[in-house]
Amino acid sequence: MFKLKTTLFALALAGLAATVSDRDAMAQAKPTVGIAMPTKSSARWIDDGNNIVKVLKERGYGTDLQYADDDIPNQLSQVENMVTKGAKVLVIAAIDGTTLSDALKQAKAQGITVIAYDRLIRDTPNVDYYATFDNFQVGVLQAQSIEKALGLKDGKGPFNIELFGGSPDDNNAYFFYDGAMSVLKPYIDGGKLVVASGQMGMGKVATLRWDGATAQARMDNLLSAFYGKKRVDAVLSPYDGLSIGIISSLKGVGYGSKDQPMPFMSGQDAEVPSIKAMLRGEQYSTIFKDTRDLAKVTADMVDAVLSKKEVTVNDTKTYNNGVKVVPSYLLKPVVVDKTNWEKVLIDSGYYKRSQFD
Ligand code: BGC
Repeated sequence: MFKLKTTLFALALAGLAATVSDRDAMAQAKPTVGIAMPTKSSARWIDDGNNIVKVLKERGYGTDLQYADDDIPNQLSQVENMVTKGAKVLVIAAIDGTTLSDALKQAKAQGITVIAYDRLIRDTPNVDYYATFDNFQVGVLQAQSIEKALGLKDGKGPFNIELFGGSPDDNNAYFFYDGAMSVLKPYIDGGKLVVASGQMGMGKVATLRWDGATAQARMDNLLSAFYGKKRVDAVLSPYDGLSIGIISSLKGVGYGSKDQPMPFMSGQDAEVPSIKAMLRGEQYSTIFKDTRDLAKVTADMVDAVLSKKEVTVNDTKTYNNGVKVVPSYLLKPVVVDKTNWEKVLIDSGYYKRSQFD
């Protein structure tokens, strides 16, 4: 009897051990995904990294997440390392979309699939898919919020506006600018919007590395050179981090008071400090891009690639990277202002109400 019990116990234990080691083996059988993110200086990229790791881990993949402090050689060596360490898929949000060609050539030679994450990787055939938001639409929404704030559709104006662009080495920056100009240009041409500085086009308005201090310095110059007697009524800003710099500059010369209210200003990423600025009336709007959805779309691409299924995309014509059109999945951006921020950001569970108390 005792012997039987012991044997049964031993068998049960063996069974358990087998289950555990099967599970281990399964976990190990799922390959590692290398994830290269540009910077931790903006909350959105921290959210992106965390969300992708979470979804991929839930699905059993190994993850190797690296941030590059907006330093191009740093990102290059991180990607090279991922290739050397045997990642099977690379998910890359590039700092400069044109500088990774050699590393990606090596990746392709090893059969690694490359997914451009949010930012297009340019000038290489070795990028397989692109997961992002509708970047042209981001610009359209930014400009439409300015159009609404100023009452341009009702024929109001003329108003003074200044334009800011994103980083010239980020393909998205051109899409944001072009999208915004598709709305603003007719008003500029018709005289209802006046760019007092005359500075238009990405060649003049871009902001290298999306740097808030650079935007602040440019706004300082614009204000002192062109707005001695005039008022700036609106500012097209492509990103919350730039808006923060521009707001500081404006405050420095007295904007933000009853007599001299802030110009209507756009932004992007719905970052917490900028939502707070919006609630204080300093920034008019921002664009929310749900990084949880982008993480999921990306993880779905990874799953499909590694299980040799068809990858779901919804755009096969917009994103030409200079060598080929990269099959893309575009998510929908959402404009956020004082009227809908709670519904979009709190009710969706993206932020907690207490973060804004
Ligand atoms: C992203 C934006 C972000 C910007 C600055 C762009 O590539 O699409 O969401 O605001 O980079 O980080």
